[in-house]
Amino acid sequence: MRLIVQKYGGTSVGTPERIRHVARRLIETQQSGCRVVAVISAMAGVTDNLIKLARETSPQPEEREFDALLATGEQAAIALIAMAVNALGGKAVSLTGAEAGILTDRAHTRAKIANISPKQIHELLADDYIVVVAGFQGQNPDGETTTLGRGGSDLTAIALAGALNADACQIFTDVDGVFTCDPRVVTDAQKLEEVAYDELLEMAGAGSKVMQSRAVEFAKKFGVEFEVRSSFKSDVGTTAKEETASMEDVVIRGISVDRNQAKVTVDDVRDEAGIAGRIFSVIASGNISVDMIVQSVSKHGTTDISFTIHENDLDSATQLLTPVVKEVQAAGLITKSGVAKLSVVGIGMRSHSGVAARLFDCLGKGGINIQLISTSEIKIAVVIDGQDADRAARLTHQEFGLAKFVTQKSPLTEEE
Ligand code: ADP
Ligand code: ASP
Ligand code: MG
Repeated sequence: MRLIVQKYGGTSVGTPERIRHVARRLIETQQSGCRVVAVISAMAGVTDNLIKLARETSPQPEEREFDALLATGEQAAIALIAMAVNALGGKAVSLTGAEAGILTDRAHTRAKIANISPKQIHELLADDYIVVVAGFQGQNPDGETTTLGRGGSDLTAIALAGALNADACQIFTDVDGVFTCDPRVVTDAQKLEEVAYDELLEMAGAGSKVMQSRAVEFAKKFGVEFEVRSSFKSDVGTTAKEETASMEDVVIRGISVDRNQAKVTVDDVRDEAGIAGRIFSVIASGNISVDMIVQSVSKHGTTDISFTIHENDLDSATQLLTPVVKEVQAAGLITKSGVAKLSVVGIGMRSHSGVAARLFDCLGKGGINIQLISTSEIKIAVVIDGQDADRAARLTHQEFGLAKFVTQKSPLTEEE
């Protein structure tokens, strides 16, 4: 019998009506002759509210308690889904991450899955249960609850599909699949039929939150093919898989925008061994993730080092760096919040030249100034003013002809 893992995101289980709709889908899938494991996220807005509550209650909540709190969102949702399936005459049981055998490391709030022991899931499936697993959570070696980072239910689904050797893994969400750009930003973005893991990884890392990047990383590592599709329609979605030869014919697969970034420049610092190490060690000591790093050409023995971080980390970064700037005798620290990163992604870039020129030219004609540039084999990213982000996405989308096969219909599943 086929085994299928279906993941439903927060919006898809956002109201009792939607929970019943998901329950019906789960029953139908089972009736079509499949064993079904459902991975469920907290109802829309619940995780954000829990985070807000924690911050209002304590200035610095312990990560252990933070995880214990956040995990309750998914726990409520699985119980409701199981109840809804049972009320419709189906047979379901809900499992927390720990009950499902999801073991993680000790890194609270961003735990990595270390191992899955799916014995109980197999037994329940053999007894014809629809097994409803809480996304986003696991248990560490001390028996404590951990969470897997925002958007982590995607990772639960992919990891379970891999561990159970599932025949299919479907990620149900509030859009019809992975689009050439966020359909909420570019209304004529089109749904992709397929996307290579590497492309989706770059898109997710560059701000397209349709899939959690760690989930895509896991899928790539273990070869778990999956489909992103709408929970409100029955249309096929986008298949994410290992790249095939023909995928290289498409130069640009998609465009991502990452807002709320900040740019930090250590100005006029001696061009000597060890300086960059000093700057970035202090940033790392504050657990701050650095994205783009650019060092200017050395002039008269000095250089500028610029990098981007999330806007929320700017205050801590400034505090950490101010003494270092003095210590290494740099001219100063220049910071700028409210910047955005725009990335164009496609494995076809490896075999097609001129993409950078076209991107820069298009932004230039739109009067959009580029502040930093970074590239990888399959991505070109630029930092621009946050206010220009949406317009830059639309112009670039048009420039690379990404919307040319689009129908008149809006690609959004629902009216927002
Ligand atoms: P879920 O709650 O189902 O996990 P998310 O909100 O995490 O859903 O992700 C879906 C959202 O991702 C969409 O509503 C859409 O606005 C956004 N998104 C960003 N970039 C893209 C893209 N390239 N394709 C599709 N959706 C995208
Ligand atoms: N509920 C968690 C979040 O909002 C996990 C998820 O939805 O995937 O980040
Ligand atoms: Mg998500």
